[in-house]
Amino acid sequence: MRVAVFSTKVYDRRSLEDINKNFQHELRYFDAHLNADTVALAKGYPAVCVFVNDVLDQVVLEKLSEGGTRVIALRCAGFNNVDLATATRLGLEVVRVPAYSPYAVAEHAMALILALNRQIHRAHNRVRENNFSLEGLLGFDLNGSVVGVVGTGKIGTIFAKIIQGFGCQVLAYDCYQNQTCLDLGIEYTSLDHLFEKSDIISLHCPLTPETYHLIGEVAIAKMKKGVMIINTSRGALVDAQALIEGLKSEQIGFLGLDVYEEEGDLFFEDLSGKVLQDDVFARLMTFPNVLVTGHQAFFTKNALENIATTTLENIKNIEDGLVCLNRVNVTSLNRN
Ligand code: NAD
Repeated sequence: MRVAVFSTKVYDRRSLEDINKNFQHELRYFDAHLNADTVALAKGYPAVCVFVNDVLDQVVLEKLSEGGTRVIALRCAGFNNVDLATATRLGLEVVRVPAYSPYAVAEHAMALILALNRQIHRAHNRVRENNFSLEGLLGFDLNGSVVGVVGTGKIGTIFAKIIQGFGCQVLAYDCYQNQTCLDLGIEYTSLDHLFEKSDIISLHCPLTPETYHLIGEVAIAKMKKGVMIINTSRGALVDAQALIEGLKSEQIGFLGLDVYEEEGDLFFEDLSGKVLQDDVFARLMTFPNVLVTGHQAFFTKNALENIATTTLENIKNIEDGLVCLNRVNVTSLNRN
């Protein structure tokens, strides 16, 4: 099928080109995000392929439909950027990649914990300047620590297993208890109890109206003084302003973020020559005990291969008139 591929970076092209040898779709790459200004580029393409910061609202979907597009292939799990009601009305097929590598994200959460606890980022900078002082680099043993996991789906379960391997006691909160976690001896508890008892809290639930700003001023006040908070899930699970207050009062001892509520204007781009306009983000970056990565938790070669394979397969299935299990429709509840 002829596919207009938006928001592409060199690494996307590389993995798609490689896997497309097995599919032979005709791929045309665009660096630009898909939105109302760029939708004309998709005219005449039966399929568009998009990522997390592309905008598929009513205006864009109607233009796509008028231009002959009938398939929207998301290169991600989340579909909160697609107006599904309009897509359904226009008969557009929306497909996604529900799981590409839960290990990638779980391992990145672990990397943030280890780096923050032992201050690897600061130690690296010091040693490069021949400063071998240990002052300010004191960590704590993970062994024996209590770790609260919010959301024990694919990623949360793997993360829980990894951190159990460090000798931590895992407490979990989820709307559903996962048998694998129960078999691992993980204790499900209330969110408040998890907040009170955990030395480290790691978020692995989706962003929904219920989980929006799950960690705000009230939740932070319930936590142990000096708690470590890790968010590799979605930025708006936490209230960034409340995090800043928690860091200033030292209620929060460590903060690791791979996602940020306003990341759409920042992440995935090289803005090193530009003036940063986001004052909240700028303030977060002033704390020595904050470590931020730019939505890179998914970014392993295994995940990129899986994303490319599932995306191109999804398009092929639709082209061949087969049932595509990764179809998203208005009744889909999972909005991660
Ligand atoms: P999943 O659907 O397998 O698991 C999500 C879990 O959260 C489920 O067990 C669900 O019951 C639970 N949940 C739903 N609502 C909840 C609530 N209100 N409170 C507590 N738990 C709740 O999803 P997954 O594959 O494990 O992914 C988890 C999240 O990771 C995704 O939603 C996504 O936001 C994020 N993610 C981030 C990256 C990254 O690169 N940083 C990549 C992929 C996914």
